[in-house]
Amino acid sequence: MSAKINLSGGRQYLAIPGPSVVPDAVLQAMHLASPNIYEGELVDMVPGIVADLCRVARTRHNVAMYIGNGHAGWEAALSNIIAPGDAVLVPSSGEFAHFWADMARGLGADVQVLDFGTAAPFDPDRIREVLAGDTAHRIKAVLAVHVDTSSSIRNDIQVLRAVLDDAGHPALLVVDCIASLACDVFEMDAWGVDVMVAGSQKGLMVPPGMAFVFFNDKAAAVRAQMPRVSRYWDWATRVDPEIFFYYWNGTAPTQHLYGLRCALDMIHKEGIEAVWDRHAVLARAIWAACEAWQTEGAFAMNVQDRAFRSHAVTALALQQPQATALRNWTQSQIGLVLGIGLGMAPENDPAWHRFFRLGHMGHVNGHMVMGLLGGIEAGLTALDIPHGGGALDAAAKVIAQT
Ligand SMILES: *Cc1c(COP(=O)(O)O)cnc(C)c1O
Repeated sequence: MSAKINLSGGRQYLAIPGPSVVPDAVLQAMHLASPNIYEGELVDMVPGIVADLCRVARTRHNVAMYIGNGHAGWEAALSNIIAPGDAVLVPSSGEFAHFWADMARGLGADVQVLDFGTAAPFDPDRIREVLAGDTAHRIKAVLAVHVDTSSSIRNDIQVLRAVLDDAGHPALLVVDCIASLACDVFEMDAWGVDVMVAGSQKGLMVPPGMAFVFFNDKAAAVRAQMPRVSRYWDWATRVDPEIFFYYWNGTAPTQHLYGLRCALDMIHKEGIEAVWDRHAVLARAIWAACEAWQTEGAFAMNVQDRAFRSHAVTALALQQPQATALRNWTQSQIGLVLGIGLGMAPENDPAWHRFFRLGHMGHVNGHMVMGLLGGIEAGLTALDIPHGGGALDAAAKVIAQT
C-alpha cells in the first residue's frame, strides 16, 4: 500500500461529550443575515422557543435564557438563590460537581461537598444523614449534577428528591442537566426539581453559546427573598420581560435562536420520549462493545453498574497510558475524534493518558455509533492495545434487535 494512504478524509466525527454534532439543518438555519431584534420574525418566535424548551425539560414553569456556556448557567442559577453566607450541599460523582461547588464558593456560599468519588453515584444514606443533622435548615440548596460528564455517572434525581422529602428539609433541589437534557430521561416537575440548568451545545444540538435556567414557583419565592440579585443574572426580568430586550438583558443571540428553533423542531418531531429511547439503545450498543473489550482486563468502563450509566457519555480507561495514542490514531487515521479523560488523574501524571471518553449525545444515529465502535476497534488493533473480542458483533446485535 502507498505510504500516503490515509482514511481520515470525508466528514469528521466529533465524538466528544460536548460540543456535540450539530445537524446540517441547524447549521443551515443559522446561516442567515442578521435579523431585526426589535420586531418581526425573531421577536415573534421567542415565546414558542420558551414553550418548546419547557416541553423538553418536562416543566410547566419558567425558563430564563442567557448568552453563555454551561458555566454561565451555573452562575445564573446560583445568583438567583444564593447570597453570601448561605449554605449549599454538593454531592459529587465527578469533576463537574467540584467545578460547580467552586463557583458557589466564589459567590460567597458556605459549601459542603459530599464526595462519592469518580465511579459511584450519590449515596442517599449519607445525604440523608447530613440533611437530618441540619436541624436549623441552614442548607438552602442541594446542587446535584444529573450526569457527571467526567465520570459518566448518572445519578438518580428521584431518589434525591425522596431523601429531601423524607427529611422534611426545605432546601431547593437544583440540578445540572447540561449533559443529560434531551439524552437521558428527565422529568423536572414530576421529579420535584426546583431549578435546572442546561446548555445549548450537548443534547440540544446547537453550538455553545446559550444557557438555560428552568425554575419553579418555590425557587421564584426564594429569589424574591434575596437581599439583592445581580441585574444581569436576574431571572425574574428575563422570564417576564416588559420589552423584548430584557429576555437576554441586551442583544438576543440572533443566529443561535434560529438554530435552536430548528433543533427543537427536530426533537419534538421525533418526540422527546423517542429521543430518550434512541439514546438508550445507542448507549446499550456502546456498552455491549465496551463490556466485550473489557473482558481482557486491559480495558475498563468507568461505571460497571448499568443502572448508573449515562446514555449521553461513556468514560473509559486503559490499563496502560495509551489512550492519548488511541485518540491520536483515530483522529489522524480515520477522522474520528474521541474525548479526553477528565478528572481521573492530574494532567502532568502519566496516568492521565489512560483515560478517554465517548460522547453520544444529541444528533447521533445507529451507523455513527457503529462507526465509532469500529473505529475504536481498529485503533486498538493498530496499536496492539489488549482488548476482548466480539465487541462489534455485540453492538450490532443490540441494534439489530431494536
Ligand atoms: C459540559 C458540562 C458543563 C459545562 O459546560 P460549559 O459549556 O463547558 O461551561 C457543566 N456540567 C456538565 C454536566 C457538563 O456536561
